[in-house]
Amino acid sequence: MSSQKTSSPKKDPQKPALKKIAVIPGDGIGQEVIPQAVKVIEASGAPVQFTDFDWGADRYLRDGTSVPPDGFATLARDFDAILVGAFGDPRVKTNIHAKEILLGMRFKMDLYANVRPVRLLDAALCPLKGIEPKDIDFVVLRENTEGVYTDAGGVFKQGTPDEIATQEDINTRKGVERIIRYAFEYCKEHTKLDGSPRNKVLMCDKSNAMTHAGGLWQRVFKQVASEYPNISAQHMYVDALCMQMVRDPRQFDVIVTNNMFGDIITDLAAGLQGGLGMAASGNIHPGRASMFEPVHGSAPPIAGKNVANPFGAILTAAMMLAHLGMTKEAVRIEAAVLEAVRQRKTTVDIGGQLGTKEAGEWVCEKVSKG
Ligand code: ATP
Repeated sequence: MSSQKTSSPKKDPQKPALKKIAVIPGDGIGQEVIPQAVKVIEASGAPVQFTDFDWGADRYLRDGTSVPPDGFATLARDFDAILVGAFGDPRVKTNIHAKEILLGMRFKMDLYANVRPVRLLDAALCPLKGIEPKDIDFVVLRENTEGVYTDAGGVFKQGTPDEIATQEDINTRKGVERIIRYAFEYCKEHTKLDGSPRNKVLMCDKSNAMTHAGGLWQRVFKQVASEYPNISAQHMYVDALCMQMVRDPRQFDVIVTNNMFGDIITDLAAGLQGGLGMAASGNIHPGRASMFEPVHGSAPPIAGKNVANPFGAILTAAMMLAHLGMTKEAVRIEAAVLEAVRQRKTTVDIGGQLGTKEAGEWVCEKVSKG
């Protein structure tokens, strides 16, 4: 695979083996926020080794490659985790490269659990009245390999008045069961930021209208929930959930849902925590190399201007380190971002005056001192 560059701290026999991280900044603001996240990881002293990959629009336009042959197999075989920016570039009209890289990673590496924590770091970031950081600390677990994203369907009699378009919503028992089980296990194993236990799993669907797929989700949810008597199992239709998320986000703990509803409700949830620039995510298959990326996309209108908020990417880096067992470094990074938010050492989107680089550097300073 051409264009891989590896960088790592000097070897010290006293130190644990380095975890191998593939870094794929991608397009647009991904190229600005990921270098900040990498610098912050380095500042934390985490024992990792980075290898840079140039997958993205520039490479695609240069040589027609979105993913080199053996690309996903290399990631799965040679790395402990993958840190990704974003894909999407107006020069590639079809965005085919973005689809092949991002959906390819999720589908072909079978990263079935998209974990999206929703936490409010500071009351000033939330557009709702009277909401404090302790009120918003929930997580959305989005099914990541099925649903309408499989692109099954087709168009018939295109361009005529009789045109027909279908988009299939694929739901397998295996796929539904493993994400629901992941949600209960997540609830059992994770506490909230204040140390209190998690104890509710809410399944969100639209089973009143989408009866076939929704029916499968309902049956599997009830069956899996019965194996976890200490966890309260709840249900909400997706439309009601959107209303409740804005009316009273305090009620949520662990939410599990399908691919499309997860995509939509986590943009809404990002709005509660300060916007897309603050939201982190992981694409996980337990026991395999997993991929971590900020929730935001490549944001072409603001790309290349040093204005993108790097905190979503930096919090994503912390999430990746925690996943790899480097809890101490992850906690230090999260604390530094919290301090930056409190002191308004941030980009403009969340009320500060710093550029992408400067906000990243402030967090680096804090992490290296902490
Ligand atoms: P995708 O389809 O990949 O989700 P998109 O273009 O629909 O991408 P984003 O790229 O996520 O959506 O961004 C939408 C808008 O949100 C941006 O144009 C920008 O105004 C804002 N935004 C997103 N990320 C950031 C960020 N990190 N910092 C500041 N603003 C951001």
